[in-house]
Amino acid sequence: MTTLKPDTVAQPPSKPAFFKRLSVLYAITAALLLTLTVFTWRTLDRLVAENDWVTHTYEVMERTEAVISRLRTIQADAIAYAATGDIVRRGEFEDMAPLLDAELNALADLVRDNPVQVRRMSEFAASVREEYAESLHLVQDRRKSGSRPTDMPDIGVTKIRGLSGGILSEENRLLSQRNLDSARSALVTRSIAAAALLVSLLALALAYWLVLRSHREEQAARAGLNDANLRLNQSLADARDMSETMSKLATFGELLHGCQTMDEVREGIGKSLGALLPQLGGRLALINPSQNLASIGAHWGRHGLLAESVFAPEDCWALRRGQAYPLAGTTPSFSCKHVQWPNPDSPNAGYLCVPLAAHNEMIGVLTFDGERAPTADERRIALAAAEQLSLALANLRLKETLRTQSIRDPLTGLFNRRYLEVSLERELQRAARRTQPLAVLMLDIDHFKRFNDTLGHEAGDALLAQFAEVLKHAARAEDIACRYGGEEFTVILLEADAATAQRRAEAIRQSTSDMSMTWRNQQMPHVTVSIGIAVFPRDAQAPADLLHRADAALYLAKKAGRNRVASAESDSSAAETGA
Ligand code: GH3
Ligand code: MG
Ligand code: MG
Repeated sequence: MTTLKPDTVAQPPSKPAFFKRLSVLYAITAALLLTLTVFTWRTLDRLVAENDWVTHTYEVMERTEAVISRLRTIQADAIAYAATGDIVRRGEFEDMAPLLDAELNALADLVRDNPVQVRRMSEFAASVREEYAESLHLVQDRRKSGSRPTDMPDIGVTKIRGLSGGILSEENRLLSQRNLDSARSALVTRSIAAAALLVSLLALALAYWLVLRSHREEQAARAGLNDANLRLNQSLADARDMSETMSKLATFGELLHGCQTMDEVREGIGKSLGALLPQLGGRLALINPSQNLASIGAHWGRHGLLAESVFAPEDCWALRRGQAYPLAGTTPSFSCKHVQWPNPDSPNAGYLCVPLAAHNEMIGVLTFDGERAPTADERRIALAAAEQLSLALANLRLKETLRTQSIRDPLTGLFNRRYLEVSLERELQRAARRTQPLAVLMLDIDHFKRFNDTLGHEAGDALLAQFAEVLKHAARAEDIACRYGGEEFTVILLEADAATAQRRAEAIRQSTSDMSMTWRNQQMPHVTVSIGIAVFPRDAQAPADLLHRADAALYLAKKAGRNRVASAESDSSAAETGA
């Protein structure tokens, strides 16, 4: 199941930080543009002022020229009148005089702001007035004398020219000074404007970049969110599937919990695991209390492996390592010895062994197999089911152990000798009461020592367990099958007379010699069994005697060549041949 990792979700960019940066940039740009405007404004003001000053200078020049020209005209009129006595020229002279005064005053007004020019102006005005006074004097003389004066004055404007030149050159100097100032301030303004414009453009470009970046981050965040959404949906779907499986697992657990005996577990498990993992077949092997044998308790599904029905726990890698085998996502280098593929040409076939453990002890193994290796989900379910099963089995085993510890043999699961003795006494009394027969079979595997010596003690144990299965199969519900000790067994056949006992013993002998066993992938040699029969009340009355007679009959069977059934009745004669 996919899990959602919150750190993988793209985070949207921090809006407040973005707006703060943007505001700072806008503020800088606005301040720069404001400064630029102020400078431009001031420069324009100055240029207008410069222009005024230029106009002013030209006005001063014009008016100076006008005063000089007026003075010349006045002087010319005065001389003409003095020379000719032309009254028209005197009239013109008299008309001009107030104009000259007004022009001088206007000129003085123009330069009033400049002390140097004021001084020069007053000298110039004084000279002009002086020359005007000379002309006036000439006009008055002629008027008085009525004749042309003998001494006609010179119209000398040289001094006036010099004075007006001073005024004009000062104005020119001021004008060029102002032009220089204007040029300098224009340069400063231009530089500031260029710098402000450049910085503003940079700030705008930065702002544009910020907006662009924020937009991209937002898009990435949106994409991240979409991604996270998809994953979330997938997770939800997975969670739904998982929850369905969990509920099936819970039902499985409840079912197991309700089982009272191992047989119930064996019956129920195939159906439940088949439903939980429909693509897989499987089998359950349980380890005997002495921990040296595992035998198949149940199997289900279509893809059954060729698995041994009894095997040593070491043959299973899962039991050896105490964890599921093969490991997740690996192809095993070694297969468990207890499994074999029916068809070696199916390379995709896979299996999974999950150990069942409780209280630090291995109690069995679940082996799943299919046409392909189990998926990760199937694996998870298999592990969870194994855990439930382990618990249930451990509980049951605890119960059964408590119940059977005192009466069962741990290797074979048959009743033990103590139980045999107690039950034989009880059953004999009951048979005596009911006047019913009862037979005792004493069984001993032939040449078991040789089997043990050549194939090993563990193989010997496996054989004993397998033989016990034959006995259980052959015994009816009311019969009592026991392990008497070593490779010797006893079966009490209730209500069985000599003939019945003979028939049943013969059946057991036959099943034993038909018994086929593989151990660690090896076919084991066939074994045989010798059986002695003693029948109550015919051969003995007391339990010990009856057992003794059965043992004696067994001895006869051995002596007669083994793999046969002998009866206590024929104690002294040769044993009957069954083979
Ligand atoms: P016979 O046909 O005469 O019975 O020959 P045998 O080899 O079976 O002879 P015997 O009864 O003397 O041998 C019994 C052997 O069984 C001896 C012992 O090592 C072996 N044995 C006894 N108990 C066990 C057991 O619990 N497990 C195993 N593997 N072997 C056992
Ligand atoms: Mg023996
Ligand atoms: Mg023997």
